[in-house]
Amino acid sequence: MSNFVFVIDTNKQPLDPIPPGQARRLLNQGKAAVYRRYPFTIIFKYAVDNPRRSEHQLKIDPGSKVTGLAIVQGDRVIWGAEIQHRGQQIKNDLEARKAVRRNRRNRQTRYRRPPIKNRGKRQRSARRLAPSLKSRVHNVMTWVNRIKRYVPITGISQELIRFDTQKLVNPEVMGIKYQQGELFGYEVREYLLEKWSRQCAYCGATNTRLEIDHLHPRSKGGSDKISNLVISCHDCNQSKSDRDIQEFLAQKPDTLNRVLAQVKQPLKDAAACNCSRWTLFNELQQTGLPVEVGTGGRTKYNRIRLGFDKQHWLDSACVGIVDQLILMTKQPLLIVAKGWGNRQMCITNKHGFPIRYRERQKTFFGFQTGDMVKAKLPKGKFAGTHVGRLTVRKSGVFEMITHIGKVSPVRHKYCQAMHRNDGYMYRFSTIVQ
Ligand SMILES: [Zn+2]
Repeated sequence: MSNFVFVIDTNKQPLDPIPPGQARRLLNQGKAAVYRRYPFTIIFKYAVDNPRRSEHQLKIDPGSKVTGLAIVQGDRVIWGAEIQHRGQQIKNDLEARKAVRRNRRNRQTRYRRPPIKNRGKRQRSARRLAPSLKSRVHNVMTWVNRIKRYVPITGISQELIRFDTQKLVNPEVMGIKYQQGELFGYEVREYLLEKWSRQCAYCGATNTRLEIDHLHPRSKGGSDKISNLVISCHDCNQSKSDRDIQEFLAQKPDTLNRVLAQVKQPLKDAAACNCSRWTLFNELQQTGLPVEVGTGGRTKYNRIRLGFDKQHWLDSACVGIVDQLILMTKQPLLIVAKGWGNRQMCITNKHGFPIRYRERQKTFFGFQTGDMVKAKLPKGKFAGTHVGRLTVRKSGVFEMITHIGKVSPVRHKYCQAMHRNDGYMYRFSTIVQ
């Protein structure tokens, strides 16, 4: 089961997406042609007057490394995608550029004016978003606008905050009765995870299964109030068992004091939200579509209730108020943000020594780095047909990144363009590298 195919009529009017089998039939009958590979879109050879359109909700789960996207038609998930961002890459690139500029200014070449004094400070206003974060927002908006062109989207859902601050007004003092597996339980859990910075309160362990622990154990009359709850790893939780915090940490007075101090500190509202998610929310509202917002707690509650795997695109389908979901696809489109390359003309080794120069030209034999191509190689180690992202060379002997890894050499005459470079690389569920 793969993603539904997007359909536009001859006037480029978006119509309801159709199952892949139906699209294949239309293409074979010559009623439609391929308009675009990624996302796969076909174009009818005729106009459709007053088409019947269903409601389509575009759902987004923004993440720091990967953002999940899903299109839900009624209660059917018909399309999914995951966008891999390049936040760290941007940070590294900017730092490399800074180093090069600093170095150039210090060299005995000619006088170069230093950057305007305090420029950094002035630009860093409260509303400024770091370039790496900005790129995440831009990636998502690019895809929202792209999808809007091919699918009649009627609404957008976005996971905006981790937990509902409205429901948890003054959570520290309120007597909270929560139960495992209940929506409210998930909100409480997300709140605690944020409050304890996603690490074990006792030993500081991260990247492990974190559990909710009662400082004053329930068996000895401890309450379910948030001020009695901490996040701990499985091992600490086990070794503490039903002992009181004072008893458990009797040997470690420093840890005891730290935990007791932090447990009294309520989490500030601001900590619940995250800057780039709010920027994204504001930009989504500019599209003019109604934007529904959900919490991380609710997403998790929906996902576990529906029995879905922990995958970004399935998470995104669970954003907001969900009753029932039927998966019509199991293969999300995997999108990797690649950017548009750089302007560096001289390639250096790790010591900064120039090792080769690049051509000013970007296109060789009709291909550019970043194009998705189909290559039919007649002989050699990689004989056969490959689909992947091209890296061009002046000589006409190219390289490709495919789902089996790097394929090289690929001569230009064996390449057939499928999708021109648009700043992203594509693949289906098969893992690359
Ligand atoms: Zn621990």
